[in-house]
Amino acid sequence: MAEKEYIERDGLLEWAREFYPEEKVFASAVINAPTADVQEVRHGKWIEKPYLLGTSNFCSLCGENYGMPHGKYKFCPNCGAKMDKE
Ligand SMILES: [Zn+2]
Repeated sequence: MAEKEYIERDGLLEWAREFYPEEKVFASAVINAPTADVQEVRHGKWIEKPYLLGTSNFCSLCGENYGMPHGKYKFCPNCGAKMDKE
């Protein structure tokens, strides 16, 4: 199944007003379209720093540290930040 995509209302409205300036109904439909409960994705990265006897990876957003010997998490388990690859 295809991944869901979300559209920004302001962007769609701008587009509607530019391409369909006479279509007030369309603009109104955009304004009144239901909202999705979407959280903005926050991006962070793992910062490797010395910790105890080895090193650990610290979330650049919340500062939590995780050892992750089996590969780095794609998301911070503590704050949910999406981790960009270095
Ligand atoms: Zn975090």
